[in-house]
Amino acid sequence: MNNFDAVIVGGGPGGATLANIFASRGIKVALIERQKDFSKEFRGEALMPSGKEVLNQIGIDLDNENIKYRKVDKLNIFYKGALIGNPDIEFIKKGQFRWASQPQLLEKIVEKSSNFKNFKFFRGYRAEDLVYENDRVSGVKISNLDEDIFLSGKVVIGFDGRNSMVRRKLAFSVEKFHQPADVLWFKVPYPENFIPGSQAFFSLFPMSMLVCVPVYDQKMQVGWVIPSGSYGELKRQGKEKWIEFIRENSPKDFSDHLKDCLDKNEISDPFVLKMTLDRVKKWNKSGALLLGDAAHTMNAVGGQGLNIALRDAIVCANHLVPLLKTDADKTDLDFAFEKIEKERLNEVRQVQEIQSRPPKFIFVNKYLVDLILPIIKIIFKFKVFKRFADKEFDKISNGFDKVKLEV
Ligand SMILES: Cc1cc2nc3c(=O)[nH]c(=O)nc-3n(C[C@H](O)[C@H](O)[C@H](O)COP(=O)(O)OP(=O)(O)OC[C@H]3O[C@@H](n4cnc5c(N)ncnc54)[C@H](O)[C@@H]3O)c2cc1C
Repeated sequence: MNNFDAVIVGGGPGGATLANIFASRGIKVALIERQKDFSKEFRGEALMPSGKEVLNQIGIDLDNENIKYRKVDKLNIFYKGALIGNPDIEFIKKGQFRWASQPQLLEKIVEKSSNFKNFKFFRGYRAEDLVYENDRVSGVKISNLDEDIFLSGKVVIGFDGRNSMVRRKLAFSVEKFHQPADVLWFKVPYPENFIPGSQAFFSLFPMSMLVCVPVYDQKMQVGWVIPSGSYGELKRQGKEKWIEFIRENSPKDFSDHLKDCLDKNEISDPFVLKMTLDRVKKWNKSGALLLGDAAHTMNAVGGQGLNIALRDAIVCANHLVPLLKTDADKTDLDFAFEKIEKERLNEVRQVQEIQSRPPKFIFVNKYLVDLILPIIKIIFKFKVFKRFADKEFDKISNGFDKVKLEV
């Protein structure tokens, strides 16, 4: 009864999407998610055209489902409180950058998957350990408060995020890219008086930066990029003190907005997230395959992680569906794992290269930043800059490689 073709650990965007494709293609699949409620897991919600395209391919059209999202139609950049430019980015101008509710999206994906009798969702179960047969992973032990269950699968896929159990248990070798920053996240009501409509902004100040994005619940998500390890001291000083610091370096109207939010107790509880950027050196081992953040943990720069995980799912399905439909042997499955990694590595590598730049830029070259940023104001006006930026942003929004569901 607990024998499956595929066992997927992790019901985030990658795992849920892959399970959906498998189930809809007649493959017997188990999806394991430790949270009973998807909103308990905080993750990226920036949906690029590349990620939306994946959702379209699995039959989810954001406009026709009950999934809240908000389009962002303008980006502003401030330096020490003064506007230095509004880069004219094509996909933002076209309203193709969306901030979509992940809990609602994930509920929708599992709801659709539940229409297939060969889909089994273990909601609220934690994958505790791997099960082996002749030194090869052949299943997963899962538990909730009441029971332990053993699930067996021809393939075990670790889509279990940045603290992956599958990665840990199999002791995958990891290449880490030093990240000098943490991000302090909190939400405030959308500052309509400051930037009406649906506008995002970056506010840069020496050794620090704010990323502010309008989100679907009439709020603004604020990410304050701070030097790694500095939150302890900020917490000790108290919210009032560090909000004051942000206010001093922010545009006046936003500063007033923050003061108002503080007075009305409208700033959500902040939490700090360690910026992590890494990649396992080889994505499969002993019959198990890692994908999404488990294989290559993304930081929040450029809003890529969610979209990359969705695209991993498509490539994985293209290779594994034909094999799992037939009685393919272990060598064929291992060979497919290799092909999946090979096909995804180029895009993942390029995105991680881009993601590793901004934090270094902010923290390491303090004086250079001071010098360069005012010059950027002038650069924004040149057509040649726009052409260059459009090309770069096209890759970030639509993906570096062609990814299409072919099964
Ligand atoms: C705070 C934050 C902000 C981010 N901002 C952005 C952004 O703006 N845009 C963007 O594109 N990306 C962003 N990212 C990255 C993005 O969230 C991830 O890259 C993306 O969610 C990866 O998807 P995934 O399916 O691989 O893993 P995840 O979304 O991490 O999902 C993994 C799932 O596995 C479950 N799980 C873990 N361990 C177990 C276990 N042992 N048993 C059962 N279940 C388990 C978890 O509960 C989780 O639901 C952000 C990440 C964080 C944390």
